[in-house]
Amino acid sequence: MNEFQLIQHYFKRASQADWLRLGIGDDAALIQPQPGFELAVCSDTSVAGRHFSPHTAAADIAWKSLAVNLSDLAAMGASPLGFLLNLTLPQADEQFLSDFSQGLFGLADQSGIALIGGDTTRGPLAISMTALGQVRSGAALKRSGAQAHDHVLLVGDLGGAALALQQGEAATASLKQRLNRPQPFLAEGRILSEYAHSAVDVSDGLLADLEHVLQASHCGAQLQLDQLRLHPALQALEPEHALELALHGGDDYALLATLSDSAWQAMQQTLPADVLANFQPIGRIVRQHGIVGRDGGGQYRPLSVHGYTHF
Ligand code: ADP
Ligand code: MG
Repeated sequence: MNEFQLIQHYFKRASQADWLRLGIGDDAALIQPQPGFELAVCSDTSVAGRHFSPHTAAADIAWKSLAVNLSDLAAMGASPLGFLLNLTLPQADEQFLSDFSQGLFGLADQSGIALIGGDTTRGPLAISMTALGQVRSGAALKRSGAQAHDHVLLVGDLGGAALALQQGEAATASLKQRLNRPQPFLAEGRILSEYAHSAVDVSDGLLADLEHVLQASHCGAQLQLDQLRLHPALQALEPEHALELALHGGDDYALLATLSDSAWQAMQQTLPADVLANFQPIGRIVRQHGIVGRDGGGQYRPLSVHGYTHF
């Protein structure tokens, strides 16, 4: 199978989207976002042996590679449009490609994002994707928008992926699922774009990603540690171990957002209870730099960041 047959067979799909003027097959795709909207563009690369174990199922590799990009779009408050797939493969293994495209389109179809192009080369297994979304002009959620007195909201739960990594093969199927098949919070991101001052997705650990917001916004945060929503599997752990995973473990793909008291009240009055339940208040933004946290009624203590960094 040559490169063109491979693309044709596994990746080219008809798309009727009105914003897509030209999809796979030409030198570039053509995109026409809705009037009054901006394009949000993000990119992420996964390398075998670094971002996923060589034993990871092809469908999971594809799912997660797309999910991490969708999580970035969600954190901007953007709605997904299309994505590009840059695939580096050691060989054109048909079983791998078939499983990969099944995982890929499983999430793409669920999220309403279309594959609009890419590049295919031979080499050590690596997947790079670039995703495009649209967001109403001026409504994108930046890291730099947090203000003193804002509430800090968390969407999703923490620590499950990090626990799955620690447990390796011994992890339960549902815990492995949490690591391999994150569910991007696109609907919640869109809701937050109506209310929040700032947002970030939690990929490197809660504190590390909160710190990005605090640095961009020149402020600090107070966290109520007993309000953090932990992955259910963390309940079986010693509390200190569970907290360590929740604060520092990566790969959660939760969302963090900050919003004013009045916006939080408006959200509570407007959203149905089942939707509102996805947004957990976990603390406040303060003027004083740094992050402090307390459990129950105890004293605040400083929390230091040690999230994952590549270099
Ligand atoms: P070029 O030579 O202009 O780079 P290619 O031959 O690499 O074009 O690709 C042909 C078409 O197939 C392009 O529209 C490109 O976007 C698309 N394409 C290539 N690889 C992939 C892929 N892995 N997934 C989706 N589309 C792809
Ligand atoms: Mg090319």
